[in-house]
Formats: sequence, structure tokens, C-alpha cells
Amino acid sequence: MRKDTKVYCNCCGKEICKRNEIYTEEFIHLKKDWGYFSENDGLSQEADICEQCLIKWMKTFKYAPDSWERTEI
Ligand SMILES: [Zn+2]
Repeated sequence: MRKDTKVYCNCCGKEICKRNEIYTEEFIHLKKDWGYFSENDGLSQEADICEQCLIKWMKTFKYAPDSWERTEI
């Protein structure tokens, strides 16, 4: 959730840490423009989810996300 210049986790409400304009904590930004095949046709939604909430959320998935170690960073 964006408010003023800050980003908050939509799930738990905490502020995403930032120092000198650089985020020192990782999070995901979701954006969806729902279309014709959706019950939300015409609606756009955005959300920010902190890493801790994402980990908890993914544990509720029936199938865990594919994960792998990157060899080049
Ligand atoms: Zn959170």
C-alpha cells in the first residue's frame, strides 16, 4: 500500500524499511487489471506484501512455488 512516500504491507500493515531512498527490506508488489473472464471485470488492484507475510501466505498454497538457487546474482 502506498501512502505519501512510504510503502506498507497490505497484509500486516508494517512499513517497509527504506534508507536513503533504497528499500532495505524486500517485498512484492502485485498489480492486476481484471478483465472480461473475471467477476472483477474493469477493476484494477494493487498491493504490497512483505517477505514475512509472503512466506506465511505461500505456506497455505496447495502446491508450493517452484524455487531454485540462482547461480548468478
Ligand atoms: Zn506483512
